[in-house]
Order: sequence, then C-alpha cells, then structure tokens
Amino acid sequence: MKNIFKRISNVFKTIRHHRRQPLHLEFILSDYCNLNCKGCGHYSSLAEKEFVTLEQLERNASHLGRVAAGGINSVYLIGGETLLYPHLPEAMAILRKYFPNISVKLFTNGLMLPRMSDEFWESARQYEVEIAITRYPIAFDYDSAENLCRSRGVKHSVYGDRGKEGSFFRFALDPEKKQNGRISHFKCFNRGCLSVVGDRLYPCSMSACVDHLNKACGTDFRHLKGDWINVCDIRSVAEIKKLRDKPVPFCSYCKPNPQPTPYGPSRRSISEWVDK
Ligand code: SF4
Ligand code: SF4
Repeated sequence: MKNIFKRISNVFKTIRHHRRQPLHLEFILSDYCNLNCKGCGHYSSLAEKEFVTLEQLERNASHLGRVAAGGINSVYLIGGETLLYPHLPEAMAILRKYFPNISVKLFTNGLMLPRMSDEFWESARQYEVEIAITRYPIAFDYDSAENLCRSRGVKHSVYGDRGKEGSFFRFALDPEKKQNGRISHFKCFNRGCLSVVGDRLYPCSMSACVDHLNKACGTDFRHLKGDWINVCDIRSVAEIKKLRDKPVPFCSYCKPNPQPTPYGPSRRSISEWVDK
C-alpha cells in the first residue's frame, strides 16, 4: 500500500515538473531534408520540397509575439533541414522582430553550413540567432562546421549526437488508435515540441507533420478537434501551455516507450513509423 501511495505521489510530482518546463515554439520552415534518416520524427524522408511563405511565417510570429512573447522562453526555426530554406535572413529577422528578448535558435544537421552566404552569417550575428547543430554519424566534418560558426562570430551549440549509442529513437504510431493517450503523453519524448505548421499550432511534430506519412504510405492518421489550435485564435500563453501539458486525441496513436535504434538511412518503409 505504501508503494502505491509513493507511486501516485511520484506521478503527480512528474506532472508538476512537466508543467514547469520552459515553453518554446518551433516554427517549421519546411520538412524537406538533405538527409534521409530512418523513422524521422518530422517524416522528412517522405516529405516533398515545400516551404512556408514569409507572409505566413510573419503572420504567425507576429500574432504569437503579441499574445504570448512574455511567457515563451525560446523560439526555433526548424525543419526538415532549415538551411535549405531560401529566405533565411528574412526569417531570422522576423523571429527577432516579434520575439526581441528571448533566445532564437536555428536547428540544422549542419551539412550546408560551409556553403552559407555572407548574408546568412551577418543576419545570424545581427539577430543573435544561435545555430543548434545535431550531429549525425555520416561523413561530414562537424568539428570544422563548429569552428566555422566560431570564426563567423555566431553562437552555436550541439543539440545532440545521433551517432552515440541510445541517442536515436524509433517513434511508433498505432493505426488502430488503441493506446492510452494519457500514458503516451505522460511518457512522451516529444512533449514540449510545440510546432507551428501552416496556420496551426500542434503539440508536437509527430502530429503536426503526419500528412507526409499519410501521403507517402497511404495511412489514415486523422486529426480531431483539440489536436491543434488555429494560431489566430490563440489569446494567451495559458492556451499554449494547455495544448502542451494535456493529452490531445492524437496521443492515442502514439505508442509509449520509444525504443533506441541504431542510426541508418530510411527505406521509406511504413514500418519505420507504424506498428501494424
Ligand atoms: S536530419 Fe533530422 S530532419 Fe533530416 S531526415 Fe534526419 S532526423 Fe529528419
Ligand atoms: S501526439 Fe501526444 S504522445 Fe504523441 S508525440 Fe505528440 S504529444 Fe507526444
């Protein structure tokens, strides 16, 4: 009996801890990518070459900046591969304009860093955008890419190294939607990855980007009311926190306890994302 009370108390402690986590927003510029990782959490190995427009990015950033900037800790430009976006200087300027006082990060696999223009580096410096590099176990000189950021005077960090054992995961969806959404959400590895896609805010990329999977593999993962909020309808930080902190209907597709898997290339096989 004592153990049951202890376990319940631990669950409540963990939920409180989750709810106190800093809030960040991810603006997805494109899910298209120049790498082809198996089971990518943005389904980028399946995505077509499409980009958000600057008008859409500005519309969403200005609204979220107006209603929520004071309660958000950081904003991200993210992909797919973010460096493929053709208007990065403008995108960095937009995020800095509407979120003047918080951390702005640009996530990348780094491969294109040696080929970026002077304008890119100047904008990153001017708008104080941090380059967050994820390392992958491929033939690429990541140390030189980091040195390049240093030499250009741009802050950078290493967000993760997918070559390390236990650092690359397979996130599986259940097409029958028979998972317990509360448990999936409680154990979620993607909790907090609030993603702006189109004109909607979703709690995570698994849900936000699932149309790539549906389109490429013929699956039918559907969104229901409550799975997202229209950005233009958001009136407060509390609404964003609620979307992050409470399970949404889509959580019942997510199998809890994702398993680490060795890094490798995608074969665009449905089994990389879906458990039959
Ligand atoms: S580099 Fe990142 S976004 Fe691109 S396919 Fe790999 S995991 Fe997906
Ligand atoms: S749908 Fe829910 S459980 Fe699945 S990744 Fe998103 S937040 Fe996590």
